[in-house]
Amino acid sequence: MIIESLVVGPFAENSYVVGDPATGEGALVDPGGDVGDLLDLAKKRKLRITKILITHAHWDHVYGVAEAQRLTKAETILPEGERRMIERLREQSLMFGLPVPEQPTIDTWVKEGDVVKLGGLEFRVLIVPGHSPGHAAYVCGLDALSGDTLMAGSVGRTDLPGGSLEQFVDSITRKIMALPDDTRIHPGHGPSTTVGEERETNPFVLEMMAMRGRR
Ligand SMILES: [Zn+2]
Repeated sequence: MIIESLVVGPFAENSYVVGDPATGEGALVDPGGDVGDLLDLAKKRKLRITKILITHAHWDHVYGVAEAQRLTKAETILPEGERRMIERLREQSLMFGLPVPEQPTIDTWVKEGDVVKLGGLEFRVLIVPGHSPGHAAYVCGLDALSGDTLMAGSVGRTDLPGGSLEQFVDSITRKIMALPDDTRIHPGHGPSTTVGEERETNPFVLEMMAMRGRR
């Protein structure tokens, strides 16, 4: 599986180009901007972009979606719990004083357990709310495109509108940390890591596991 990343936009968001080298089918994951550069990256790896996977509908993860749709005609996929968030893209932009992007159209709404196929690859949808109401992680074998959940030495924030610390602790401890230790985490911000590395060293994860133990 091909995985390339590019840091885009004012919040240093990780956009990913993923694909199946065997069939040449590729997807953009959370194209938050610099769409031309992302498509160049895809071209360099001989990938044709047929899908756009979105983990959640925060501004920094979706700013480039409509442009990417226009340029690729790719099927655009978002978890159904993010419907209100994407509908409020304009409000989000204005609330934070950010430029208002063109409104994207979602082709496919996914839920827990759905499988998104890309060439010979299969991405399992895990719904991991808390950072945002319907946040998804897309898991393909030992690679997880996990958005703003688990990060190297950190975790996503829960204080934005629609966030919930309680849900987030559940998502991290019961779903993300339940993935095999050698699962590679490709987060929405910062470098990639593994579940095992974070299980041992991430202070937020250690605290959450302890909280879960106390309940
Ligand atoms: Zn976010």
